[in-house]
Amino acid sequence: MKTALITGASQGIGKETARAFARAGYALCLQYHTHEREAQALCEELREDGCPCLCLPADVRREEDVTALVQAAEREFSHVDVLVNNAGIAQQKLFTDLTLQDWNDLFSVDVTGVFLCCRAVLPGMIRRQSGAIINISSMWGQVGASCEVAYSAAKAAVIGLTKALAKEEGPSHIRVNCIAPGVIDTPMNGFLSPETMEELREETPLMRIGTPADVAEAAVFLASDAASFITGQVLGVNGGMVI
Ligand code: NAP
Repeated sequence: MKTALITGASQGIGKETARAFARAGYALCLQYHTHEREAQALCEELREDGCPCLCLPADVRREEDVTALVQAAEREFSHVDVLVNNAGIAQQKLFTDLTLQDWNDLFSVDVTGVFLCCRAVLPGMIRRQSGAIINISSMWGQVGASCEVAYSAAKAAVIGLTKALAKEEGPSHIRVNCIAPGVIDTPMNGFLSPETMEELREETPLMRIGTPADVAEAAVFLASDAASFITGQVLGVNGGMVI
């Protein structure tokens, strides 16, 4: 049975990604940060459906947390076949109001977290000469967003990391890809008013807001053998908003 480690699985895109990988027959190691009850409930739900599932807390900014997370997954399931780097935070502020602390906070979760998780799973993947990593970036990492300069820069860094790592690990038969979601209906966008959401819907060629399942299904595809010749790519899941 293949094993997937999914970060930020307590809510939003990560939660639906866990459900999609469970449906695809994977054993799961789910990471959460603050929402323990939600993550444990999801783990219970998946176990009841027959999915071997482990649920652990970790702060992806902390090297020791990430090391412990990957060690626990490898102890429980013997190996990790797929890593989905989904945990992330966003922030909207004028660039001139950004503090160094704001900048460092965002980069430590959205970029350093991805670095630490990739680095922790890779020795096992290289040993087995097999694996797939899927990093969740954003369309703002492709085209930039006003009042989201730190977020856009961090998500662009994830795209750069993905491309370079794909080249480095390709000879070890490890694929590294990226998903760049558009506007997805999750708690991260909970602060947006219904009017703003409606405007965003109207700006989207497919005329709807994305769902966590839209991103989850793309992640399952990129992890699967159907994507065995795809690496270093950025898959837009954005309803056509960025083409
Ligand atoms: P969300 O609902 O806010 O969920 C974020 C997840 O990240 C939560 O599970 C949270 O854990 C976890 N997390 C936050 N800080 C963490 C830390 N320091 N260590 C470990 N985990 C941490 O966000 P979402 O909308 O599902 O977004 C998921 C990913 O998609 C993010 O990378 C985001 O940037 C990206 N994305 C989202 C959209 C969108 O429109 N929603 C668009 C483009 C890209 P706890 O809840 O347990 O604290």
